[in-house]
Amino acid sequence: KAKEAGRNTWRMYDKSMSDSLYRRAALEEKLKQAMAWREFELHYMPQIESGTGVIRGVEALVRWRDSDGQLIQPGDFIPLAEETGMIVTLGEWILRTACQAQVNWKQQLGRDVLMSVNISAVQLKARDFANTVRRIVWETGIDPAYLELEITESMLIESMDSVKPVLDRLREIGVQIALDDFGTGYSSLNYLRLLPITQLKIDKSFTNRLEEVEADRTIVESIIDLVHKLNLRVVAEGIETEAQYRILHELQCDFLQGYLFSRPVDEEGIQNLLRVGRLEVPGSQASA
Ligand code: C2E
Ligand code: MG
Ligand code: MG
Ligand code: MG
Repeated sequence: KAKEAGRNTWRMYDKSMSDSLYRRAALEEKLKQAMAWREFELHYMPQIESGTGVIRGVEALVRWRDSDGQLIQPGDFIPLAEETGMIVTLGEWILRTACQAQVNWKQQLGRDVLMSVNISAVQLKARDFANTVRRIVWETGIDPAYLELEITESMLIESMDSVKPVLDRLREIGVQIALDDFGTGYSSLNYLRLLPITQLKIDKSFTNRLEEVEADRTIVESIIDLVHKLNLRVVAEGIETEAQYRILHELQCDFLQGYLFSRPVDEEGIQNLLRVGRLEVPGSQASA
């Protein structure tokens, strides 16, 4: 009897559980296939210099073009790629593709563009990550000073001690390290003090409300001042309005990223932007 009841109970959960397990397994299978079929592509979002609009670099953002031609955003597959460990292979492909693109653009443009690449916690904690980076730098021939790896504060919370030596090795290789989504996690000042960070990215949740929320403006102002006093550079993400731009420019934020200037664009799109070399910013003189 107990056995029967148990079985009935199991049945109650069975349907919804197997549905989600099934969907997950199917998605995982699709992700593996996507790797094999080269369905991933990189889009690039310009990072401009405040005041001039000069494009100093780009952030590489992965997309998945599935077999129906539909473009899938990273939020919809990166978490699963992380859970399954597939992010290690995918991340290596992303890094190599981004570095190769940087080198190609240098040949075409005659100048170096800073290439920022997002690194997942799983990659950073995988054995040999620094060696992987060293190898890719060597293979592609990128000047490591123009490669920036973006890590998020959330990955530092429980593993500061294991992450620090990896970051130190990355700095020895000569790559830059940005702390992404700053302000969303614990934002411990310890990170800035102990880790070899070269740049800090203020999260777009602060940028969003700069106009309306006085406190956000004060916090952003303090972050920028602090970062400058530590001799680091600061980028703000998610600028969508002229008003947000004006405030950040006034607060002397060094670099900016946001839909106001450009959305992430594909390889052809970014080459067109890089050829011009700058984007229009509010208040800049139209070139005669
Ligand atoms: P992130 O690194 O903070 O990247 C910035 C995200 O904000 C991008 O979304 C970008 O399109 C979006 N964004 C930038 N400016 C604006 C704006 O003005 N308005 C709005 N509404 N959005 C803006 P995306 O490409 O969907 O990427 C989301 C997240 O997925 C990234 O956040 C990053 O954490 C992750 N991701 C993207 N590409 C990669 C990758 O190659 N590897 C890894 N590990 N993670 C990635
Ligand atoms: Mg998106
Ligand atoms: Mg990023
Ligand atoms: Mg971010």
